Amino acid sequence: MTKTESANSMMWFRADLRVVDNTALLQASKQKKPVFAVFFATPEQWASHDTAPIQIDLIRRRLRSLQTQLSECNIPLRIEQVADFEALPAAIAALAEAWSCDHVFCNKQYEWNEKLRDQAVGQALKKQKIKFSVFEDTCVLPAGSVLTRQGDPFKVYTPFRREWLNQFHLSPALAQPAPAAQAHDAEHMKFATPPSDEQVDRWMGYALRDSSDWPVGEEDIRARLIRFCVEKVQDYGEHRDLPAVDGTSGLSPYLAIGAVSARQCLSAVLHEFPEAFEKQEQGPFIWLNEIIWREFYRHLIDAYPQVSRAQPFVNWTRQVDWQWDQSALERWQNGETGFPIVDAAMRQLKATGWMHNRLRMITASFLTKDLLIHWQAGEQWFMSQLIDGDLASNNGGWQWAASTGTDAQPYFRVFNPTAQGKKFDPNGEFIRTWVKELAEVPDKYIHNPYDWPDVKSLDYPPPMVDHKAARVKAIEAFKQAKALTEQA
Ligand code: FAD
Repeated sequence: MTKTESANSMMWFRADLRVVDNTALLQASKQKKPVFAVFFATPEQWASHDTAPIQIDLIRRRLRSLQTQLSECNIPLRIEQVADFEALPAAIAALAEAWSCDHVFCNKQYEWNEKLRDQAVGQALKKQKIKFSVFEDTCVLPAGSVLTRQGDPFKVYTPFRREWLNQFHLSPALAQPAPAAQAHDAEHMKFATPPSDEQVDRWMGYALRDSSDWPVGEEDIRARLIRFCVEKVQDYGEHRDLPAVDGTSGLSPYLAIGAVSARQCLSAVLHEFPEAFEKQEQGPFIWLNEIIWREFYRHLIDAYPQVSRAQPFVNWTRQVDWQWDQSALERWQNGETGFPIVDAAMRQLKATGWMHNRLRMITASFLTKDLLIHWQAGEQWFMSQLIDGDLASNNGGWQWAASTGTDAQPYFRVFNPTAQGKKFDPNGEFIRTWVKELAEVPDKYIHNPYDWPDVKSLDYPPPMVDHKAARVKAIEAFKQAKALTEQA
């Protein structure tokens, strides 16, 4: 590749795969210099982070779409590949040199390995006298900006939200526009390279999983957001816990890879419901509350890096005597626990790469409390399957369910999977969709099929644990862990 004469800028895309409301991209494009964009595939890093093949496929498809959109702004996007984060400082520095870039732009990520990566890249660029600018973008309010009166990060959600709302009202951060089109230069545009199929095969090292149920065009994603705000958000409060109802936004895969931003979500709902913040009992605010949960977990991993390094948030829970039972873990993974709502959820995850939030809570509680299996095994399995896999939300959700995290309730909160099924899937509609063996079971027995007089005709396993006994055992394990810590 030949060097260009004058200085250029480089936009480095990571988990922010969008053109509209992308802070770093907007800033790069304001420099009045040609902008080159790059995305680095890091297959070995993805494997070590257990990134799901379906999420990689979503990224691959989204990159193609992003490339087209960027080319309309006359910004070429090049797709490069290195093994892992360690290889990135040299690779970025070499590319900046080759493209005569004197300034590299990107958006901040809060995960531990990503932070170390950016420090190393910053140092490598500094040696070459290349400026490196990292912008806050992934949250509506940046991590570190929502603090207690003493200036500490929050550890509990409700006071965090109160302060988040105060801060937001002081300076509302809403979505920004796409960058203006750059001057066209045919030579410059030749740097764009779509990822070839062979390249993508090499990214993975294992079979790709088709994500085509999820459209990736920016317009498609925006349409989903608007449709949700116009048609569904008002009923969100009533529908959000019912897995048989399509009552949530389904935006998590896009938020996870940055194909849509949290600010765009906020702007869209406030456009339809300008008084959403004042009516906290209504659907629009209840939905915004979930966006604030997302922010909470991101702020947490920034402030408490141990949680993204496989440590519990509550220190004494290290002492819990978790069971490592491979065959029980596999029964849970495959949806063969004998608890219909758990099995339906786990089969949905395996088949589609997505699971409803209520079911994530039920299945996570089942693994960590009923089976007393370490939350890390569940966190890892979810990551390896989820199209919306996201370290902060996944770790936060798992640690919440396992009582090792930020749940304000003490460790003796243990979900009863049968009662949860009855409450949130009363007629078993969701269960029957995923557990075909139970299709003929009458409503009355759908949550306890082994009480059905015709149970002999069923090819479905009996419950793998006695929930009442398992609950007592789990609470005892936590009590003992606490006592051990207090004695020490
Ligand atoms: P909606 O109900 O429409 O909510 C809108 C957005 O708010 C979501 O897209 C998501 O970005 C955010 N959100 C909603 N609920 C939560 C929550 N409880 N915590 C944090 N953010 C939330 N979410 C992920 O994006 N990636 C994960 O890897 C992930 N793992 C989870 C693991 C467990 C054990 C639990 C209990 C929850 C997990 N969640 C995760 C949170 C939540 O289940 C999903 O975000 C939600 O189901 C996505 O569906 P939706 O987009 O229709 O959500």
